[in-house]
Amino acid sequence: MNNRIRQSYEGAAAATGLQLDEAGGVVYGNRGGYEMILYPANANYPYMLTIEVSVQRQAGPLTKDEAKSLRRAAKPIARAAQNGRVVRVQLKNQANPRKFAENVAAAVTALETFLHEQGFFNVCRACGKPGPAVSCIVSGAPMHLCEDCYRQIEQNKTLEQAHKEQKKDNVAAGAVGAFAGSLAGVVCIILLSRLGYVAALSGVIMAVCALKGYELLGGKLTKKGIVISIAVMVVMTYLGDRADWAIVAMSSLGLDFFNAFRLIPDFLSEGMIDAGSYWGNLALLYVFVLLGAVPTVMNAVRAKRAENLTFRLGSGAVTR
Ligand SMILES: [Zn+2]
Repeated sequence: MNNRIRQSYEGAAAATGLQLDEAGGVVYGNRGGYEMILYPANANYPYMLTIEVSVQRQAGPLTKDEAKSLRRAAKPIARAAQNGRVVRVQLKNQANPRKFAENVAAAVTALETFLHEQGFFNVCRACGKPGPAVSCIVSGAPMHLCEDCYRQIEQNKTLEQAHKEQKKDNVAAGAVGAFAGSLAGVVCIILLSRLGYVAALSGVIMAVCALKGYELLGGKLTKKGIVISIAVMVVMTYLGDRADWAIVAMSSLGLDFFNAFRLIPDFLSEGMIDAGSYWGNLALLYVFVLLGAVPTVMNAVRAKRAENLTFRLGSGAVTR
């Protein structure tokens, strides 16, 4: 959590009387008897918060008209809906940092009033047991659970995690997967080049498919898997590009594909292929492979980290 976001969230916490949990990146706490968690539904939009409560009432779930009236109750509210026992109120993106705390507080107050008026009460999201719940993060997702359900889930998570860590990736199968994935990249390099497109897409597809291929067949994407996938990408990008030139040479010189492919270095040294375009094109491809590989690897690491995050809010046990 960067400084600016933390300051904004601290401001929102102060304005609402709730608390900030830095490890979870959320604001949470009790407002007028309702346990609430405020979090960004998409980490890329930290100023677009969702307020989540786990509630029920005798009269059944929130109706569409009620959701509409809740939306009208405070300007910052974009929409409200109930899904199972969870009511989520999505706020508009708060572009103005000075108004952030004020707008969030207005939405929280409107929600609190609404829940009171409509006779909602707190329940456990999982089993529906009424009463105050544990505010927690389960596999990266904020939620409200009763003590029993939370303990059960925490226990299962610990077992599951131990099992997952024990499980090794199958390196040979993973390498085959990376190779198979990289073939998609090679096909793209050749096809898109025929259509006269720049190599951007081919490079990205090469990277994403090789990494996904490793994960799919190897079981999981480990550090070793990333290194192997990158080696496969480097080699296959070179071969794909060379095959692309071979196809050009083949048609203009009347050679078969394998001879053309084999003779590429000769064509280069004899100046029949312009060395500048050849190496320039290859370098460009590598840049796009890199552009595809970096976010794919980062997403995999981030998703894995989120998957392993299960803790009580306010426990301060986990830091990111
Ligand atoms: Zn429960």
